[in-house]
Amino acid sequence: MADFKIWMNGRLVLQAEAVLPVNSAAVFYATNVFEGLRAYWNERDGELYGFRLADHFARLRESMKMMRFSVPYSVEDLFEAVRAVLAGNEVREDVHMHLVAYVGGAGLDATSPTGLYINPRRRQRVVEGKGVSACISSWVRTSDNAIPIRLKCGANYQNGRLARLQAKVDGYDEPIFLNGRGRVAEGTGATLFMVRKGRLCTPTTSNDILESITRTTIIEDVAPNVVGMDVVEREIDRTELYTADEAFLCGSGYEITPVTSIDRFPVGTGEVGPVTRAISTAYINLVRGVDMRHPEWRTPTYKPVRL
Ligand code: PMP
Repeated sequence: MADFKIWMNGRLVLQAEAVLPVNSAAVFYATNVFEGLRAYWNERDGELYGFRLADHFARLRESMKMMRFSVPYSVEDLFEAVRAVLAGNEVREDVHMHLVAYVGGAGLDATSPTGLYINPRRRQRVVEGKGVSACISSWVRTSDNAIPIRLKCGANYQNGRLARLQAKVDGYDEPIFLNGRGRVAEGTGATLFMVRKGRLCTPTTSNDILESITRTTIIEDVAPNVVGMDVVEREIDRTELYTADEAFLCGSGYEITPVTSIDRFPVGTGEVGPVTRAISTAYINLVRGVDMRHPEWRTPTYKPVRL
């Protein structure tokens, strides 16, 4: 199957044609910010629904502002670009997209011109019911006062890259970061939840984690309204993970990924637990529109709508 074309600054181009100058801040210093999101095909409606697009666009704009980029794109501009790349590629299947805003000028203090590309790709869906092995990384999560992890800057992911490569070398699927204060933070591209003593818990956003849209969806809706559990947002200690009954990673890309061992301690029984399973099913039903509540979170990308 051929790769999708990339939308770059208003044009659909082949992957090989989507190039940046080597002296741009984007290439040299990783001066970019990005979003990763999914759109899900709904057979019943014959429609491709982008999940929480408005929230992803708001976060991309916030990331640009925070990293001192010029911000030439409104939410409407971003939505039009997403529609153009999906329609231009005639996407009628589940798809993952990276929206990347970058600084094309040269030098450490370049703030413009800001360019944008959108790279849609077929990304494997998470296999329901299959867990991953995790370790506590010896790499510490970068802190809000260093490179803020609250937003999605490409350079942040060098921290994640080191942790991820170390985890793989050591025989684990995924690393879990502690922050500079030794509290549990998150994974490299996903936030973390655990079930312990009957409570569903996740670190607060003051623990050097991304303000994840999936995390918010679970807290606001999936856990309380579908699964019947309120989420406790609090600090989490490393040893709580070793004695948790269930744990999972979540994110737009990771969806709900169960964690079945941490540093080789089995999480609970070592199998995917009932709360994780229930949240996973409820989340997937919601994003695809099988669960028809919250239509405002599923933006049709073919039907004409305003965001
Ligand atoms: N943390 C990090 C570091 C991430 O890169 C991601 C993926 N965007 C997440 C958490 C999950 O965020 P979201 O639910 O908004 O995709």
